[in-house]
Amino acid sequence: MESATQALATQVGGHAGVMTTEDGSLLIKPAIRAEAEFYQALQQDPALASLREFTPRFLGTLKLEGKVKDTAGNEGEALVVEPVYVEGEIIIFRYPQSIVLENLSFSFLKPNILDIKLGTVLYDDGAPPDKVARMIETARKTTSLETGVRLTGFQVYDNVTSLAVNTPKSYGKSIQPSQLGEGVAKFFPVGTVVEGENPAPSSGLPLKSLLPILRAIRDEVAEIREAFANLELRMVGGSLLIVYEADWTRAEEGLKKFFEDEEEEDEEDEDDDDDDDPTKRIGPPFVVKLIDFAHTKLVPGAGPDEGVLKGMDTVLRLLDERLKEID
Ligand code: ADP
Ligand code: MN
Repeated sequence: MESATQALATQVGGHAGVMTTEDGSLLIKPAIRAEAEFYQALQQDPALASLREFTPRFLGTLKLEGKVKDTAGNEGEALVVEPVYVEGEIIIFRYPQSIVLENLSFSFLKPNILDIKLGTVLYDDGAPPDKVARMIETARKTTSLETGVRLTGFQVYDNVTSLAVNTPKSYGKSIQPSQLGEGVAKFFPVGTVVEGENPAPSSGLPLKSLLPILRAIRDEVAEIREAFANLELRMVGGSLLIVYEADWTRAEEGLKKFFEDEEEEDEEDEDDDDDDDPTKRIGPPFVVKLIDFAHTKLVPGAGPDEGVLKGMDTVLRLLDERLKEID
């Protein structure tokens, strides 16, 4: 029997083709071997253990079994096929498998989502020379080389229409380093009540929710930075994915629960068995994780990835600046 999957409606960056399971809780992403292997290593390799909590939960890989024959009658491995439109033409990508991941936006009512591409080096060691040249040029012409970040894409809910407004990757590619702050402000707008016949909240959370959420996101990025600084990895083309709740009531409830949980943790540091049951759990009103490990490698002895750390420092600075602006 085939189970129903659908395109991920909340995808803000990357290649098309990310699917969700019927209930939306899991993602199925076509992946090259290197990404599937990195996720597997994350579960098993003690050298990567400290990074696991900062990545989406990994449930395994899906592979099409058996051999297939192409139209010419040649036999080959069954592959996951992902058709992509590029300038009006369909290009078919074939992947050996898909990875199954936790959908980080699943527990949100109105997820505001930002994908920040990290790093100053956007090419893999093994890339052909023309791709290396193109990627160096892309990094130089965008914010990547100077700051280690590029705003890949984001969505922000308009609470009046209840629609997610998307900012495509062309925006993040076009701006200068000095405009990154404006971009971050677009993703963290301060909400007000729009007066009228039916007063309604505008896009953005009211300050009383936005401030603690921004601070908590900042703290989480700082923790990720600390863990990453102790690892000998090269992460090319990977991202920080930031999600926070845009619904006023849900954000407030989520924050209340978040701070209650923190107090509990301080009081008694015992295992909470609610943690294993996703249905019981009211998630925090934000999530920050590292995603996209198609071009991430372990480099024992070579030290941390300075370009990615630079990007994380830029993110911390931008969040601090946004906090100062609105506080
Ligand atoms: P690509 O190699 O195509 O860039 P990514 O892993 O970056 O693939 O995924 C593309 C997009 O899919 C991301 O920008 C994000 O919007 C969404 N996405 C990826 N992983 C997750 C996840 N675990 N939870 C929610 N959204 C995700
Ligand atoms: Mn990506």
